[in-house]
Amino acid sequence: MRMSKLFVQTLREYPSDAEVISHKLLVKAGYIRKLTSGVYNFLPLMWRVLKKVENIVREEMDAAGAQELLMPFVQPKELWVESGRWDVYGKELMRLKDRHNREMCLGPTHEEIITSIARDGLKSYKQLPVNLYQIQSKFRDEVRPRFGLLRGREFIMKDAYSFATSQEELDKEYQNMWQAYTKIFKRCGLETKAVQSDSGAIGGSVSHEFMVITDTDAGENDVFYCEHCDYSANSNHAISNLPQVTIDGGFSKAEIVDTPNVGSIEDLSKFLNCPQTVICKALVYIVDKAPVIALIRGDKTVEETKLMNAVGGLEIRIATPAEIEELMKENGFNAIAGFIGPKGLKKYGEYEIKIIADKTVTELKNFVIGINQTDKHLVGANWGIDVELPKQIEDIRLVERGELCPQCGKPLQVTRGIEVGNIFQLGTKYSKPMNAVYLDVDGKAKPYIMGCYGIGVTRTAAAAVEAHYDEFGIKWPIQIAPYHVVIVPVNIKDELQMSVAEKMYEDLKSKGIEVVLDDRDERAGVKFKDADLIGFPFRVTVGKTIQEGLVEYKIRETGEQIQLKPEDALEEISKAIKAVI
Ligand code: ATP
Ligand code: MG
Repeated sequence: MRMSKLFVQTLREYPSDAEVISHKLLVKAGYIRKLTSGVYNFLPLMWRVLKKVENIVREEMDAAGAQELLMPFVQPKELWVESGRWDVYGKELMRLKDRHNREMCLGPTHEEIITSIARDGLKSYKQLPVNLYQIQSKFRDEVRPRFGLLRGREFIMKDAYSFATSQEELDKEYQNMWQAYTKIFKRCGLETKAVQSDSGAIGGSVSHEFMVITDTDAGENDVFYCEHCDYSANSNHAISNLPQVTIDGGFSKAEIVDTPNVGSIEDLSKFLNCPQTVICKALVYIVDKAPVIALIRGDKTVEETKLMNAVGGLEIRIATPAEIEELMKENGFNAIAGFIGPKGLKKYGEYEIKIIADKTVTELKNFVIGINQTDKHLVGANWGIDVELPKQIEDIRLVERGELCPQCGKPLQVTRGIEVGNIFQLGTKYSKPMNAVYLDVDGKAKPYIMGCYGIGVTRTAAAAVEAHYDEFGIKWPIQIAPYHVVIVPVNIKDELQMSVAEKMYEDLKSKGIEVVLDDRDERAGVKFKDADLIGFPFRVTVGKTIQEGLVEYKIRETGEQIQLKPEDALEEISKAIKAVI
């Protein structure tokens, strides 16, 4: 490809709406352009990168025995009603109606469709196990589309679904996919860590996320891990053991005390001169539409996904002050956040108020708790005497750095990660309600035991930028670079320079190496800048030294720069590419 013809426009500045480096660089270097919120045009350079990622995914999925198919992007409501998800999948599901007023949605994921395909075609145990996958655009009306391709609304995903006759068969396929994923991300130039995770709206029990570890804002997940054993988990799933702390508040009798304007745990602990660990905090949440009160030890934080799972919901948020006011009134109280307690809370609108206690509160003695009166707290409280211990006790606590590893007891560390893929054991979550069954050896109809396995193709490409860049631009890993090499003749009017550059261009092409010849009549500095920004793994500069028969060969990744004969430069490039592809 000649640079003069390449459809690319690099910018002088980063786009003003970009927060993370991959978003900034992909726009500045002319890879993507925003069409509307969370929706991007993939320009030719980007499309080449994405096709490479797709091909790596395809090759490894095929090698692992999975079969590729392609399902429609538009899905009918009926299948979603069958699975039970039409009513529970929130606003992320983009719903629409056709001219006959039939309801449809844009595919955010394809469990319903694949399960319907399986029940039509997989009738006997003899046909199982099977793993089917596709690579396709998905649409999710994300609450907060951001970070460019990392969290878009329309994005490309590889989604695979396996069907098995037993848990053992599923376990085997789960391991098989785990290995395929490890190879895929490695080939994309990414180091990943497989961490235990929450199964969320997709459902199921066992699941792992493949994280690219980062210390930047682009890592939307907190990952807890142990340096002494193999424990690692997303914060929405992580558990830990707590170091021993004071749990006896030491108040000699139960009494209501004035706590004027001390609504925060920090202020309350100072005001009462007691540790935060002896305060029972009560927070009001709305899960789907129902009110939930979460009780947790004062020094700890509620992990919202854990709480949501504890009540079997799909969406969670903290209640607004207005909702709290209303809820209080309805139950005969008058209190604002900071003074809430579980006692006497029954109903809110058509819902019963659920009260969930974190394990940390169960051991409290002579503790401090809100009583639904503003500016008052009860001190010296005890479960079963002053306040009922809620029936539902769960782990709804966010783990913190330094708490103890649940496997080996050493302190846990925390870092951030970009989730590029995940694997889930679904079991019969879809096959049962959708009556997707096969005939087993014993002649009985049984639902398939399913697994599902996703990879964000667009997110993986963006994550590769997050992992490989410098102040000048992108440093693509060779395997997914849009082109391998750029040849830069310093002065296109110099006949010798140009003829050597043209010859190298042809030679590289004939070896199957993807090369761009920067034949623009621009200053060398401009061309170098673009080469670094776009991120070609190798640059060959043909300048004055060609009179001594030498070109300059530069490796983008390391910045290493050497003078070589053109044929030697060609050899070096071939070798480097062969080593990884
Ligand atoms: P997240 O927790 O980041 O929202 P998810 O759990 O919703 O991800 P899945 O439904 O399992 O993700 O989708 C599989 C893969 O698709 C993810 O691992 C991720 O790589 C990618 N993906 C999910 N949502 C987006 C998005 N909004 N933009 C880009 N890629 C996405
Ligand atoms: Mg999501």
